[in-house]
Amino acid sequence: MTTQANCHCGAVQITMATPPTDLLECNCSLCGRYGAKWAYYTESEITVVADDDALVSYRWGDKVIDFHHCKTCFCLTHYSGTEHAESDRVAVNGRLLTDRALMDALPRRYFDGRDTWKIVDSF
Ligand SMILES: [Zn+2]
Repeated sequence: MTTQANCHCGAVQITMATPPTDLLECNCSLCGRYGAKWAYYTESEITVVADDDALVSYRWGDKVIDFHHCKTCFCLTHYSGTEHAESDRVAVNGRLLTDRALMDALPRRYFDGRDTWKIVDSF
């Protein structure tokens, strides 16, 4: 059973091989501002359908991750590793799941990226 996520305008469509098992919120300086709820996959587990010029990306810090946004509606759609990354991990912004009931029902995890770099009970 695949799961779908898309940006608000529909220019970026992401298909995940399996539904997320949970969504992770991170309070680091970037994720905390974005308010993303991450669903983690490997590159081969997701398919991103978008025109070549549909996405704009932000890279910061140690430059191992590109945060991708729709150039039209500006939704943060997903992140992927750059050429500097040591894994093929990607993350889809669970706030973009087309199945809104699934999004609401998924367990939440909280990663303290601001301070301890550990999973915590809540923020
Ligand atoms: Zn869009």
